[in-house]
Amino acid sequence: MSEQRLHVEATADRQFGTNSYLVEDEETHDAVVIDANLEPELMVDLVRRRGAGVRAILLTHTDIDHIAGLAQLRKAFGDVPIAVHDSERHVITEGVPLRREFPNALPTFDNVDALVPGETYTAGSLSFHVLHTPGHSPGGVTLRIANALFTGDALFAGSIGRSDFSNSDGGALIEGIRQQLMVHPDDLLVFSGHGPVSTIGQERRYNPFL
Ligand SMILES: [Zn+2]
Repeated sequence: MSEQRLHVEATADRQFGTNSYLVEDEETHDAVVIDANLEPELMVDLVRRRGAGVRAILLTHTDIDHIAGLAQLRKAFGDVPIAVHDSERHVITEGVPLRREFPNALPTFDNVDALVPGETYTAGSLSFHVLHTPGHSPGGVTLRIANALFTGDALFAGSIGRSDFSNSDGGALIEGIRQQLMVHPDDLLVFSGHGPVSTIGQERRYNPFL
């Protein structure tokens, strides 16, 4: 049995430097988009260039810079499922802002799936293991596929997410990173919500917050 070959590529918006990721099965061309930053047209271009078939949009959490592009992605890729942790589902289905501090008006979406910690979320030929990494936000998740972790705004290269919002929890953030992420081998790749790619080994050795 051969290993699934994956293509992972990021597009970052210029306002917040928020990463959206394309994860594509190089054999079937089934793909998912992880997070929907403020320049969704970059992701739409990337998907078209590669001839990928987007099967779902997965959300690490629902801060505005990670969901602002949802409507445009849906328009481009069709009514594919949007998957999110249950604690932040209402942000997507009811347009309730995640943060009291940022009361933006939000669009609402249907066809919303749950990302359930400890379970696998499957989209076409791609399967992601869901890990709960809250603290930056209540429904923060990390998605694992093969040797890649998509950590959202929990863990960054050399840093961790903010926990100064009213619904943040700094203790839970550290605990989630330690118990759900740092238990992985050194060579696992860390694809964060902002900034460059890292590895678990690099963060174990050099991240001053851990
Ligand atoms: Zn962010």
